[in-house]
Amino acid sequence: MLEYISEQLEWIRPYLVDVEHLVPVKNLRRITAKKPRKDFTQNQLCHGIITRYARYKKYFKITLYTYFIDVTKIHPEVHMRLRPYSKIDTLCFLAHELSHMVHWDHTPQHKSLEAELTHLFMIRLRASGYVSEEEEGEQSWIQHCRQNK
Ligand SMILES: [Zn+2]
Repeated sequence: MLEYISEQLEWIRPYLVDVEHLVPVKNLRRITAKKPRKDFTQNQLCHGIITRYARYKKYFKITLYTYFIDVTKIHPEVHMRLRPYSKIDTLCFLAHELSHMVHWDHTPQHKSLEAELTHLFMIRLRASGYVSEEEEGEQSWIQHCRQNK
């Protein structure tokens, strides 16, 4: 049972139900959203992290990056800002981490399961009316402008 899920990632809850028959979702305890450090001193090397509990090895927690550092170079300046990952990206990262619950190493089996989970996630995403990352980007830009008025 999930004990905790970050508010930002609350929307992925129904997606987990879709894959209960493929991964032991019931052993997932926490899903936490993470932002890269704002001072850009830390290299972001991954999109997500899965951890197995030391004491109760069947339990897992997942951390997903919800923002990435966008670097624009306009000579001689370098601009860096934090940008949110799209829903498609987030679901792909989630599929990757969830697959580790069944196949701990990055084996072909792990990748196949990841593809299967991603496929199921995309079916639900499409059914929810999601059009594209481009459209999602536009919507979040509109929201951003509204919030900053
Ligand atoms: Zn991995």
